[in-house]
Amino acid sequence: MVKLNLQLQEINDIVAAAKDAIFAAKQSSILNILRIKYFGKKGVITYRLKELNNISAEQRPVIGKLVNWAKKEITHFIEERERLLAECEINTASQRETLDVSLPGRGENIGGLHPVTRTLKRIECYFQKMGFSITEGPEIEDGVHNFDALNISEYHPARAMHDTFYFNSKLLLRTHTSPVQIRVMEKKKPPLRIITAGRVYRRDSDTTHTPMFHQVEGLMVDEHLSFTDLKGILIDFLKAFFECSLGIRFRPSYFPFTEPSAEVDIKCEICKGEGCCVCSYTGWLEVLGCGMVHPNIFSYVNVDSEKYLGLAFGMGIERLAMLRYGVNDLRLFFDNNLDFLRQFN
Ligand SMILES: [Zn+2]
Repeated sequence: MVKLNLQLQEINDIVAAAKDAIFAAKQSSILNILRIKYFGKKGVITYRLKELNNISAEQRPVIGKLVNWAKKEITHFIEERERLLAECEINTASQRETLDVSLPGRGENIGGLHPVTRTLKRIECYFQKMGFSITEGPEIEDGVHNFDALNISEYHPARAMHDTFYFNSKLLLRTHTSPVQIRVMEKKKPPLRIITAGRVYRRDSDTTHTPMFHQVEGLMVDEHLSFTDLKGILIDFLKAFFECSLGIRFRPSYFPFTEPSAEVDIKCEICKGEGCCVCSYTGWLEVLGCGMVHPNIFSYVNVDSEKYLGLAFGMGIERLAMLRYGVNDLRLFFDNNLDFLRQFN
């Protein structure tokens, strides 16, 4: 009888100790440890339940009843504590996430046009007002339109200047926007005034070259055109684009598709023509190439070169954007750095 009383006392003590430990638990992870302590494979209650088999038949109902009561009680304590902890967690979370409706709004970030797009639109808009119509051509070109029709035959040294990305022996990524001139003249008869802009590709990459860049190209075909018209159009354009009267010079140059050809320089605004590292100490910055359309181009597209004359010009959009916005590294335009791009909004 003494032994039985001792066992009953022990079970009561286990339940009392469990109650204290469970209600002292501050985290559900500790509750899990306690659950294992009492109900795990080697748990205190599990052990007592197993031991029932070794108890005499007359004591078994009494002790069995008490062990089952202990199991129920401890399970109840754990469930109760779990519920309290969950409630507590919800309360602290909702306290953390209180909404202060009186706080000022965060505002919205408004996007803007990329400086290259902005420059391109500006140029297109100017020439549209001059009566030029906007045309487009494919970026994947064939060798005929990109080179042959533009008076650049297969072994012409000018092909070496165009480090071309080829798909196969016939197709390539256009190296300039000039093929659009050919495509337009194949379909339409003069008089023509077109402006075309878009991406061009060359195998080149450094501070002033990227494998992909943008060009704008203008073409005008009509009777009685002269180099003077070309000069007038470009001088007016550059003054309007840079919004100031700047020093402009036409320098004789060579392009296979124009004759005569010229490159156009503007006076370096940074050193005022004195010479600095930006202008390679020449005092001038090259901005575009131009010339009178070569008669060979006209004969390729069946335009009478005795009757019609053409003037053409082309420029790099990034180059103009760099000069207009004072950007010293061409690659910045393609890094997609938001801090850089936001400055143009
Ligand atoms: Zn300079």
